[in-house]
Amino acid sequence: MIEATCHCGAVRLSIVEPPARVTSCNCSVCRRIGALWAYYRPEQVRIAPSDRATIAYVRGDGLIEFHHCSTCGCLTHYEGVDKARSERIGVNARMMEPEALAGVRVRRFDGASSWTEAGEEDVPWSCRTVTGVASGG
Ligand SMILES: [Zn+2]
Repeated sequence: MIEATCHCGAVRLSIVEPPARVTSCNCSVCRRIGALWAYYRPEQVRIAPSDRATIAYVRGDGLIEFHHCSTCGCLTHYEGVDKARSERIGVNARMMEPEALAGVRVRRFDGASSWTEAGEEDVPWSCRTVTGVASGG
């Protein structure tokens, strides 16, 4: 079990396990947010204390809501607008401690045009600590 939290701690996500890989997408939303997405099934993530700590932004197609903390502004996760049919939650791995991302590879996803993978890269420097660099390859 790991935790992802916004900076002020008002939004806490308890997650079954660290991500094996995270995704960096260049679509019109993600390139602005700068999130690293770790994908989970909804039952693998517990959001506490409640959704009321976040403000949701629904993008144009109306399918996905991006949640950010109403206090500190950190973008913590996205989920489907239709919760009953949603099969995936995207947790912003930047809300995880650097230790959870040590050695994790970043999958580039071309959400802007081809909607395909575009290679891999290391976790950005800004997600690491000295420990993370040492074990992150
Ligand atoms: Zn916050």
